[in-house]
Amino acid sequence: MTRNTYPFIRFWICAMAFLLNSNCDTPPPGCPHCSDDLQLPSILPEEVPFRVLQVKWNALNGAPSIDDPSLLCEETFGEVLLNRHLRAGLCNWTQCKILLGPVIGSTAHFGLFDDPDLSAGAAGDVVVNNTALTPELEELAILCDNHWNMQPTGVTGLAVRSFVNADGTDSPINGIAFANSGTRPFFAIGDLEFFPNALGDVHRNTERVLAHELGHVLGLCHANGDNGVACNSGFLDFNDFGNLMSGAGSSASSRTLEVEQCDIARTRYAHLFFPLADMQNRIVSLLDERGERFAAADKSVDLYKTMVFNRLSEAGELIFLIGTNGLFTERKNDYWVLLDLDNNVQTGLHGERIVPGSDQQGVDLALQVEVGDSGKRSKSTLYTAGSSAFRPQSLAPGLLTTTLVSSDLYTSSAEGCQRVPVFQEIEINLSREALMRFSDTRQVDLSFANGLKLQTISIGTALNGEKVMDKSPERPRAIFLQ
Ligand SMILES: [Zn+2]
Repeated sequence: MTRNTYPFIRFWICAMAFLLNSNCDTPPPGCPHCSDDLQLPSILPEEVPFRVLQVKWNALNGAPSIDDPSLLCEETFGEVLLNRHLRAGLCNWTQCKILLGPVIGSTAHFGLFDDPDLSAGAAGDVVVNNTALTPELEELAILCDNHWNMQPTGVTGLAVRSFVNADGTDSPINGIAFANSGTRPFFAIGDLEFFPNALGDVHRNTERVLAHELGHVLGLCHANGDNGVACNSGFLDFNDFGNLMSGAGSSASSRTLEVEQCDIARTRYAHLFFPLADMQNRIVSLLDERGERFAAADKSVDLYKTMVFNRLSEAGELIFLIGTNGLFTERKNDYWVLLDLDNNVQTGLHGERIVPGSDQQGVDLALQVEVGDSGKRSKSTLYTAGSSAFRPQSLAPGLLTTTLVSSDLYTSSAEGCQRVPVFQEIEINLSREALMRFSDTRQVDLSFANGLKLQTISIGTALNGEKVMDKSPERPRAIFLQ
């Protein structure tokens, strides 16, 4: 983000303030509108600022509103999508002072794709399953993710015609979200106005389903029916079917939120919001694998994204968030982060001395996370480059912490919402103290003025005994923390 982005954002927030007062007026007959024509007021204290969440839209050809925007009183498919999320924001998420905003910038064009799999249903239909991630949905999530590769903030959305089962029959699912994912915030919704669920009108409110899915993406579990474990948030269930995050079937009347839910939604994935409230707590870099490769035999070894967060001045830590494409298995896998702290090949050692297959020179620190027992067991080790070999260091508690997170696929349908774990992420926090203690401070200042070069590598064994290795990014890349 550049400095001259700010006047534009200010202008836009003023425009949003105008919309806040006008968008929920009664629309022309037949045009979509907020359910009940009701805009819910903020439930947060006056001094709490509004936050903006950009929705990075994509759509499939074949969905009626995409092929013919005039059906929803719009001129372009982009306006269809933009106004859907503006309504979902203004009529639901203003409760938490979250505005769902447009995407700004030269790369801000919505993705429009042909349906990659025409074998089931009509063009624009997506095969889903409420107990697993289907190949078609996975392919589409990656397509959307790659389309918005250059914009790390916000969440990625996909508008489809409708959801179908593998045999092409109608699925009761209205919307899907990846919950608890810091690397792949993604949701998909059907064109519900045109393919309402058989259970009736209350299920055809696209805005409400969209608002519900966004709650999942922001880290919320269901307000009833879940035991809270899935949400990674400490928010436990209360029994309220009027709540937006009610899991007992989507209905237009489920719209309210609680303050605890707002607190989670605003803070669990703070880096998604734009502009960021605290510039110190920010994504330094998003390193994509580039051209996803699927290790079909063991997807948990398949890395798709590495995000680096700089909180050195604020929280005293550097954070790496590594996304995998699958679930940890009972077999042991190793996940490595190789760091060239001064971006200088003359200092440190070749990565191959610690990770066979590494092609990175000048590695000063290596972080290893061994994961076994389907993610129930993990062990983290920090290695420093000596004169001829890497040496493991014993670490006091808190110097290096590793958290394994399961990302869940939430499917929302009139019959109830369900969740199933689909992929996992590894969050590594390296403290300022560890960096100072184990790096040569003569070559490294903690602003990393020369750049911080890094690569993550995973190594594991597939079910058939085959060794699997993946890297993200494909080549070691230097990033800058300023
Ligand atoms: Zn749900």
